[in-house]
Amino acid sequence: MVAGGSGEDFRAEPFRIKVVEPIRRTTRPERERLVEEAGYNLFHIPSEAVYIDLLTDSGTSAMSDRQWAGMMLGDEAYAGSRNYYRLRETVREIMGFDHVIPTHQGRGAEHVLFSTLLEPGQYVLNNMHFDTTRAHVQHRRGIAVDLAVPEASDPCSCHPFKGDFDLDRLQTFLAEHPRESVALIMATVTCNTAGGQPVSLGNLKAVKEIASEHGIPFFLDACRFAENAYFIREREPGWAGRPIREVVRAMADCADGCTMSGKKDALVNIGGFLALRDPELFRRASVWAVLFEGFPTYGGLAGRDLEAMARGLEEVLDEEYLEYRVGQVRYLAGLCRAAGIPIIEPPGGHAVYVDAKRFLPHLGRDELPAQALTVELYLEGGVRGVEIGTVLAGRDPATGENVYPELELVRLAIPRRVYTDRHLEWVALTLRRVWERREGIKGLAFSYEPPVLRHFTARFRPLG
Ligand SMILES: *Cc1c(COP(=O)(O)O)cnc(C)c1O
Repeated sequence: MVAGGSGEDFRAEPFRIKVVEPIRRTTRPERERLVEEAGYNLFHIPSEAVYIDLLTDSGTSAMSDRQWAGMMLGDEAYAGSRNYYRLRETVREIMGFDHVIPTHQGRGAEHVLFSTLLEPGQYVLNNMHFDTTRAHVQHRRGIAVDLAVPEASDPCSCHPFKGDFDLDRLQTFLAEHPRESVALIMATVTCNTAGGQPVSLGNLKAVKEIASEHGIPFFLDACRFAENAYFIREREPGWAGRPIREVVRAMADCADGCTMSGKKDALVNIGGFLALRDPELFRRASVWAVLFEGFPTYGGLAGRDLEAMARGLEEVLDEEYLEYRVGQVRYLAGLCRAAGIPIIEPPGGHAVYVDAKRFLPHLGRDELPAQALTVELYLEGGVRGVEIGTVLAGRDPATGENVYPELELVRLAIPRRVYTDRHLEWVALTLRRVWERREGIKGLAFSYEPPVLRHFTARFRPLG
């Protein structure tokens, strides 16, 4: 699409670059030394030794000149900062939720919401819980249940909305459990755990209807709400050509409120919020907010952070931006496809997922193929992705056995407005070079395995 494009379909970055941050290409011997020192775990590599960092799209966005200018307008009053009112106005206007509680990031909003709504032993139903959401449900002694359509976990299905709820399973669950046992229903848009796959508006409306029939609150985990809206406009009958704002509003209209990580679709490096429709719920949530995050007009953030978030929420709705954003993920996916590199199809909104099982079919699961592939990509081209496979899945707390997930993936998450297409071409070239020598790649084994969240601190040794 880029090379040779001369007409309507030609796509280039819808911004020019005003500030630059140098990045350095290390040498292969340097990377070999660093990898060994890091115990073959890229979480231990200093960012300055990474050439293209695709570890996450969270908090890694480049802010605009307008956002940086807004940082100078921070009103650092303890209570009633003008930037708080500005953020609240923006959320009201875009999403239609009247009450807004800023939080230090998305999980802060989860902490406040679940402390308000979730009693021990109750269920939370989600298309697929994100890690921190599940952890917060469990922290409150709740039970997290995932009810996405089966296509969500099928790497070959080209279902346009792989993040949708399975409505039959949702209905069945609610028929089989008393109303009081379900604290709330949440829809994660886009569905991060399923690879940034979108949820359709038809599905959100159906969930809303089911939720209100049973009198159960329905919330959005809205981290990537704008990317989700873009997919709805592109793929859902009746929404082609409609303004993104209208789609976003239709999504929000389905819900009683949302949790939001500003580190995703608010284009900031830190921040989040909880938004609510119900004034009584807001009153109750504010009590917890004071305890965990701070007075509800700052919520663990500086006034300048609130301003940057408000401005980011406006900018993310720009249609040219979204076309570039989703287009860039597709561009990298297309380069992989052309080289025969196995990826999850269709690509979602924020990352390309390489299928390590098909990339390194000669490695058994205990040889940690996805972890081995992340190491090879770093050694080859200084590219940092992240393992989403056996290492991340950990062990069953009851049996102590490894949990083998269906998929062994390397996620290449693309930060927003940070890298150019040329950088992505480097990533694709790195993948191709590793692909060409894939048969010689050896697996890894744990040399140190911590008891919890092992992927962050584990160390490995090469096999063979
Ligand atoms: C990132 C994320 C969160 C948590 O947000 P943080 O800002 O990292 O605390 C929750 N849900 C989803 C879907 C996310 O992607």
